[in-house]
Amino acid sequence: MADQNTPDSNEVREIRINPIVPSESVLVATARSMRPKKAEELAPRDTRKHVETCPFCRGNEHKTPPVILSWPAEGDWQIRMVENLYPVLGDDRAQAGFTFGLQQTIDGYGRHEVIIDHHEHGIAVHDMAESHLAALFGVYQARMKQLFESDERLKYVLVFKNFGPAAGASIPHTHSQVIAMPVVPENVDAEVKNSAAHYAKHHHCIFCALIDEALTFEATLYDRTSGAVRRKINVGQYVVERGEKFIAIKPFASRYEWEVHILPLVHQADFLDVRAEDLDDLARVMKRTMARLDAVIGGAQYNFFLHSVPHSGSDSKHGVPHDRTRGEYAASYHWHLEICPRTSIPTGFELGSGLFVNTINPEQAAERLRAVEL
Ligand SMILES: [Zn+2]
Ligand SMILES: [Zn+2]
Ligand SMILES: [Zn+2]
Repeated sequence: MADQNTPDSNEVREIRINPIVPSESVLVATARSMRPKKAEELAPRDTRKHVETCPFCRGNEHKTPPVILSWPAEGDWQIRMVENLYPVLGDDRAQAGFTFGLQQTIDGYGRHEVIIDHHEHGIAVHDMAESHLAALFGVYQARMKQLFESDERLKYVLVFKNFGPAAGASIPHTHSQVIAMPVVPENVDAEVKNSAAHYAKHHHCIFCALIDEALTFEATLYDRTSGAVRRKINVGQYVVERGEKFIAIKPFASRYEWEVHILPLVHQADFLDVRAEDLDDLARVMKRTMARLDAVIGGAQYNFFLHSVPHSGSDSKHGVPHDRTRGEYAASYHWHLEICPRTSIPTGFELGSGLFVNTINPEQAAERLRAVEL
């Protein structure tokens, strides 16, 4: 265990258990021998405002699949949502899933849509106006709500963004995606169930407890025999950005070197419950967090995605059972946005063991992000 008072205090090698989903753990190994993992290439930022041949740029609206919504509704659009030309899930198949031996399939029923985040082709998230980002979050909300209300077979609506080819972005124009699916994704399900189990035992939301710790908790661990300081923990060191209503924190067991999560400070299970006036603060925290990440790892490819409480319908076959609806998880689950920059390529060790290796001490990563002057 590294002693913060010795010269090698920066070196950490330990397995950290994800407090929300204990079956997920991360090896934080900052020793030289673990470095460098092969670095993921930076995605060249295409800063052009308009590209004649880009189907997502203004003036080329006829080149996209049918439009679902535009914002604002009148005049030049700032944000535009269209169907996906190559959907992962579609609504054209009527057959149910089948089971054969150990092979199970669930019907690939769902929706896959694209949100053109901004009319400017290559604008980065941290360069978008706060009011624009707030409107973008509003569009996410509006579409999630419409999808849940339109079809009770849809159990989960995942909103996410990919930036850079290694992060899965195939079109360079800034965009996010919405996938509505007939199952609750396994990682969301694990968060939902584990936080519910925590709530049943401790009567508080584990995400709220982590935020409280992040804001207040400090501890010193002493060696039992010598009495020397083994480790100082100042959990406040995980805070990256703080707004009035939202906070950006560096998870203690971060899978990715520069992973940051944004959460509402006051308990809230459902992203759909964020009030319109609070979206401004969310936009501000998001913009500042992305600016910090850009200052430290500019050009890194990344994904971000929203995890919100599932709205399970009447079908108890898949995902969260029907008797545990969004209402039942309202006290135990806490929605959040996970930002996962891809700065290194996973190795055989990671794929084979399922253990993520993080080569940067999360406390130091948070410190570097916090130190950026905005
Ligand atoms: Zn474009
Ligand atoms: Zn909470
Ligand atoms: Zn999550």
